Order: sequence, then structure tokens, then C-alpha cells
Amino acid sequence: MKPKIAVSNCLLGVNCNYQASHNRDDFVYKELAKYVEFIPFCPEVIMLGTPRETIRLVKIDGVERVIGNATGKDYTEELSKISHDLIANIMKEENLCGFIFKSKSPSCGVERVKLYSQKGNLEPYTTAGVMAKMVIENYPNLPVEDNNRLLDPWLRENFVMQLFAYFDFLQFKQEAKKMGDLVVFHTGYKFLMMAKSTKAYNELGRIVANRDKLSFEEILAEYEKLFFESLKLKNSRKKSFNALQHMYGFVKDFVDESEKSAILEEFEDFKNGTNPIISSVSLLALFAKKYDVKYLQGQKYLFPYPKDLRLRSDIKAFK
Ligand code: SF4
Repeated sequence: MKPKIAVSNCLLGVNCNYQASHNRDDFVYKELAKYVEFIPFCPEVIMLGTPRETIRLVKIDGVERVIGNATGKDYTEELSKISHDLIANIMKEENLCGFIFKSKSPSCGVERVKLYSQKGNLEPYTTAGVMAKMVIENYPNLPVEDNNRLLDPWLRENFVMQLFAYFDFLQFKQEAKKMGDLVVFHTGYKFLMMAKSTKAYNELGRIVANRDKLSFEEILAEYEKLFFESLKLKNSRKKSFNALQHMYGFVKDFVDESEKSAILEEFEDFKNGTNPIISSVSLLALFAKKYDVKYLQGQKYLFPYPKDLRLRSDIKAFK
């Protein structure tokens, strides 16, 4: 089973934009496509077909309206209704793990969508597209990005990690029956969470400890909320270095001097931005296997998503 991602159809090479052309995104279409199932959508093609007049967002009496550039027609209600219905259908999909929107579109842009005044001037601030805004406001913990932001290796790595961890939780939840299951799940995410936020990790640990003796269902709901919120946090080079050092603690009593210096040198190279993190985690994975350190082998942080995506081979994937 693969995670499902709702995607602006033009990013998949479908000729649905206003020119009856597409905006195919190679990372989404060629790379990510191997590991996820897409749920395509295009609100504007439902509304106006293709080719069609372009639309823009105009602030009228303090409210953002959708206005046709050629006709001046107000499409706000129509586009909102179509977007609402599309989202409602998409959210029914089992294992839906996120959205990837086409950037800058008045329907799909996640941020930096141009907003005009009634006189036709640009407002001093930008906004989000109609459908993207609905998703962000109603499903704040769902992984959401646009194709332009995904060009940034740091945002890309964080998004893909979030996506696969989100999927992992959904699958875990289907099978989970008792506290022991949650303890095992949480243990596997120890260092992935630590690389995002020590506070979040400790807070999740507090929930799992269940000192108030809540029911499993109550604990699971509380854990899910915080787990998804925490997954949205971006990692940093400093926090990741900290997580690597903690992971090293589980092999340090087994490795010999030359292995120790190889690992620590690699960590330093990562910290200094000389080497990508993949070298450090690969070394840790190697020694965890060599010395049969099961606890470390079970850490999601070593390989949080398909290795072939090669996102951790990029130095710029960490800031
Ligand atoms: S940006 Fe959105 S509305 Fe525009 S063509 Fe792509 S999917 Fe359709």
C-alpha cells in the first residue's frame, strides 16, 4: 500500500491549465510518483473547461473575490463550491497523506499568490489560492506544499519525511490495539522527533507514559494530534547533529577506536556542512547492524522514506 497524495493535475502533465497546457513537475511526476498514489484535481477546469479566461484574486470591501480577467465576472461562489466539493471527496480517500499544489495559482497557490485592489494595483501582501486556503485552514496538520517550495532541498526533505511518517502513523493506527503497540511506535520515532524538537519528543513521551491512566483510545487521540503537529516542525542541522550524537551513544561501547573516529569525523563534517547527512546515518546503520543493536536498527530516522529519493544526499537539505 502506498500513501495517497492529492495533486494539482497540471503538475502531472495534464493539459488542464488556462492555455490547455500543463506545468509538469519532474520531481512530483517522475520521482515521487514511484512511491505514492496520486489523487489529481483541478477546480478551474471543472468551472470553465480549457482553454479559459484567466482569473485573479481581487480585494473588494475587505474580502478576497475571484474575478475573470477578460469578462470581469465574479467566480468566487462557483470556485469555492467546486473546491469545497473536491476537498470533501478527496478527504474520503483512505490513507490520504497530503496535498501538493501548483504554486502561485489563484486556486492552488499555497502562498505568495498575487492579490489586486479594485483599481488593479497589487496589494502590498500576497495570499493563498481558494482551494489551497480551504485545505490549510480546515486540515492544519495535513502535509501540504506547492511545487515551487519543493524546489528547496530543505523544504523537500522535510515534506517527504513528514509525508511518510504521517502515512506510517495511519497504518499503525489501523492495527494498534493496546498501549504496548503505541510504545513500540513511539520508540521507533525517538530520534526523528528529537531532530525536530526535543520538547515535542518529551511531550510525546509524557503522553505515552499515561500517568493519568487514560483509556488507550484517549491516549491514541492525544498522541496523534501532537505527533502530526510535531511532524510539521522543520529539522535543522544543529538539532540533527544532536540526534546523531544521541544515536551514537547506542554503538559507542561496541565500536573500536578507528570506527569511533570515522563516525565522529563524519558527524563533524555534517555539522560543518561539508558532507550530507546520508554519510552519517549510513555509518550508524552499518554499525547498528554489525553489532546487532536492535534499538538503533529500529529507528525511523535512519531511513525515514525510500532511499532512492536520495534527498539526504544533498548538503542543502539541512540548514
Ligand atoms: S493550478 Fe490548479 S486550477 Fe490551475 S490548472 Fe493547475 S490544477 Fe488546475
